[in-house]
Formats: sequence, structure tokens, C-alpha cells
Amino acid sequence: MSDCIFCKIVSGEIPSDIVYESDSVVAFNDLNPQAPFHILIVPKKHIPTLNDMTEEDRELIGGILLTASHLAKENGFSEVGYRTLFNCNRGAGQTVFHVHLHLLGGRPFTWPPG
Ligand code: 5GP
Ligand code: ZN
Repeated sequence: MSDCIFCKIVSGEIPSDIVYESDSVVAFNDLNPQAPFHILIVPKKHIPTLNDMTEEDRELIGGILLTASHLAKENGFSEVGYRTLFNCNRGAGQTVFHVHLHLLGGRPFTWPPG
């Protein structure tokens, strides 16, 4: 997809702070972080929304989730806890139409904390 921001990040056309890469996924820091750690994990393949993922993508979506837990462990917040989130379509706040998993960590997400 020539006009997709995340495809351009995957190809290196747009610079980003890449923290992990495999054959099928790329993870990079969010430009506008909502937590001390806010990483986006995207498939290299252009898929607009979660609704567009099919049986063929079963391994890919598993790889995205395993990447999230790997990065949470690597960054030291897997035990204290973290949040993962897919926004699907505009009503949920999706603004970039290339599937991405938000991985947020490094602060409490409940009130009162703990
Ligand atoms: P959505 O609202 O679609 O679930 O999330 C899109 C996310 O992408 C937002 O958190 C936004 O800050 C992030 N984002 C948008 N454009 C860029 C960009 O060019 N680079 C990076 N690193 N993040 C971006
Ligand atoms: Zn794309």
C-alpha cells in the first residue's frame, strides 16, 4: 500500500524507532506515547484492520501477541503488568489502517494502582 504510513515504516521509507523485527513483524515506539513504554507491533504485510485478518493469518496474529510478551519481558514490565490493545475501525479510535497491536507498560493502568 503506497500511501500507508506503517508500510512506509516497515520498508524504511519513513524513519522510526524500531525495537524488534522478524520475518513477519516489526515493532517500533509510538510517536505519541501514552505510557513510558508504548510500542506498536505490526505485520509486515499490509492488512487494514483486525476484521481483514483471515485463517491464513493465524500464525501471524500469534506472532504479534508473542512479540508483545517478549518485549514486555525484555523491558522488565511483564510481571508487574501491561496492556495490549487492537483498535478496530474508527468507532474504536483506529486512525492508522494497517493492523497494529499497542503494547503499553511502565505505569499503572488501574486506579488505585495495584
Ligand atoms: P490507532 O489510533 O490507529 O490505534 O493508533 C495509531 C498510533 O500510531 C497512534 O498511537 C499514533 O501515535 C501512532 N502513529 C501515527 N503515526 C505515526 C508515525 O508516523 N510513527 C510512529 N512511530 N507512530 C505513529
Ligand atoms: Zn500498510
